[in-house]
Amino acid sequence: MGSYKTVGSLGCYAHDSGYMVDPYGYIFPCLLAVGINELAIGTYYPNVEFKENSIRNRNIDTIPECRECTYSLLCGGGCALSIDDYSDVFKPVCFNIKNQIHNILPTFFNATMQNNMKAESTEQVCAKT
Ligand code: SF4
Repeated sequence: MGSYKTVGSLGCYAHDSGYMVDPYGYIFPCLLAVGINELAIGTYYPNVEFKENSIRNRNIDTIPECRECTYSLLCGGGCALSIDDYSDVFKPVCFNIKNQIHNILPTFFNATMQNNMKAESTEQVCAKT
């Protein structure tokens, strides 16, 4: 997986380095996954064992839809917690990155541009007086 450790190719730390444990012996990849045993990446009791296929193997190469996707290096496959069926975590979760790029980013851009234009016109008025 080394070559896929780029800006967004892994989605978040759960795919790479997150470790959370519960009192029942499970190891989870992130805080929000604790208690969802299907998302455990392994156990620490009675033995330390890691699953062969878990979120740790989830990236833009192992999710087929992500391989050819233009958003892939920003997205990383999305958050696996949003998948309906945790028996297969190798499914894409697209809505978050698409919402950020197509809705949230333009909203912030437009608001920033309007604020800049207001500030410039205020400066011009002040300079004339
Ligand atoms: S937008 Fe969807 S298909 Fe594209 S990288 Fe993200 S999860 Fe994968």
